[in-house]
Amino acid sequence: MATIPKKTQQTRDRNSEVLARAKATIAGGDNSTMRVLSYHLPLIADRGEGARVWDIEGREYIDLNMAYGPLLFGHRPEKILDAVSFQIHKSGSQLGFPTEISIRTAEKLKALFPMMELVRFSSTGTEAVASATRLARAHTGRSKIIAFEGHYHGWSDAVFHRYHAPLDQLPADRMGPALPGTIGMNGAPHDLITVEWNDAELLERCLAQHRGQVAAVIMEPIAGNSGVLEAQPGFLAEAKRLAHEDGALLIFDEVITGLRVAAGGAQQLYGVTPDITIVSKALGGGFPVAAFGASAEIMSHIAAARMFHGGVYSGNAAVMAAAEAMLDEITEHGEQIYGHLHAQADRLAAGLGEIMTRHNVPHVMQHVGPMLSLFLTTGRREPLTTYREVRQHADFEKYIEFQHALQRAGVYFHPNLFEPMYLSTAHTADDLDEVFERVEDACRCLWPR
Ligand code: PMP
Repeated sequence: MATIPKKTQQTRDRNSEVLARAKATIAGGDNSTMRVLSYHLPLIADRGEGARVWDIEGREYIDLNMAYGPLLFGHRPEKILDAVSFQIHKSGSQLGFPTEISIRTAEKLKALFPMMELVRFSSTGTEAVASATRLARAHTGRSKIIAFEGHYHGWSDAVFHRYHAPLDQLPADRMGPALPGTIGMNGAPHDLITVEWNDAELLERCLAQHRGQVAAVIMEPIAGNSGVLEAQPGFLAEAKRLAHEDGALLIFDEVITGLRVAAGGAQQLYGVTPDITIVSKALGGGFPVAAFGASAEIMSHIAAARMFHGGVYSGNAAVMAAAEAMLDEITEHGEQIYGHLHAQADRLAAGLGEIMTRHNVPHVMQHVGPMLSLFLTTGRREPLTTYREVRQHADFEKYIEFQHALQRAGVYFHPNLFEPMYLSTAHTADDLDEVFERVEDACRCLWPR
């Protein structure tokens, strides 16, 4: 029987030791709760390059997390770093005035997302989404927002709901007031209603129940925070029609999908254009940037300073240099980039699925381009279409065990199966072959025949 190479005692201790040290100074050991969950095997990152990351012990991992998505061109992409370096050395990082680099970046973003007649940059997806929902409320004069179960839109009081709620805490009739995402929200999110994903009739009923009061329907057009759950054929267009019929706006949170599943995001892939779009992760290629945009009419509330949107670091020049370089690459080499990403992702999905099937492991493999979910299940083999189905059928414990085995064998992806795997242009066919080999070994150990 194959064995998964175990970390040496010393290796495990060093990562754990440093994490323990971190906990004495940084609450919980790191700066996002998602990176220090109780079931994480400690991994303190030292450096990354291309598709690989190294821990402080010098152990190398094929990275299928890509920093939760931003690293579309892998770790330390030369052209992006050169652009940032040039900008900060030549002109400065934080200037505190309008700059030509942010104007150019906005123009180039707009070329990929033509619905964004006017844009604003922020530093994080959370801020951009909070601004987008405020904008929808300002524009419509209405207060309610409809979101979907299992969709995540950042952790602001505006929209942070308990997107991974246990099944028994979700409303029995599949729609209802959103549950607060954390303690300390003082009753927020206010006026946020959640509805089960992928059911147009239910959305119609929800809109009817709140007739004339809904400012916007917000969604991840490909759900990516409860595993990859693609919209059912026709659902996006129908959601748009229903929202508009009621006078509500449609918001696409393309923080994950923008510049990933296609240059112009999910809206380009499916041909459905929302009223407000948010993009982030891939736009910065590893630098903290987000953008939201809409028609000049909708954005006029911000343009005329009736609605406030701020941020000392919004449009920071170093970050704009990264975003401009990302956009330049995508604009110039889009066909190659997305061709490569989709081909590699198809191969990874097919390969993982084949291995799991051969080892008779109940699973469902789902992906849209380079965002992929391997759902280990308790028996289910048919596609999963909603958060509730994932909750019901996924085997979270087994996935953690599987992830630990792979992490020990030098392949990293997030241990929570709600988090997609991500590929970058830096991942080669050889990287995938290595992944397959190690997954094969893990299967032999975890599911011996
Ligand atoms: N929206 C979506 C769809 C996301 O996936 C995320 C982050 N995972 C956010 C918003 C929030 O972005 P940030 O973490 O940059 O605030």
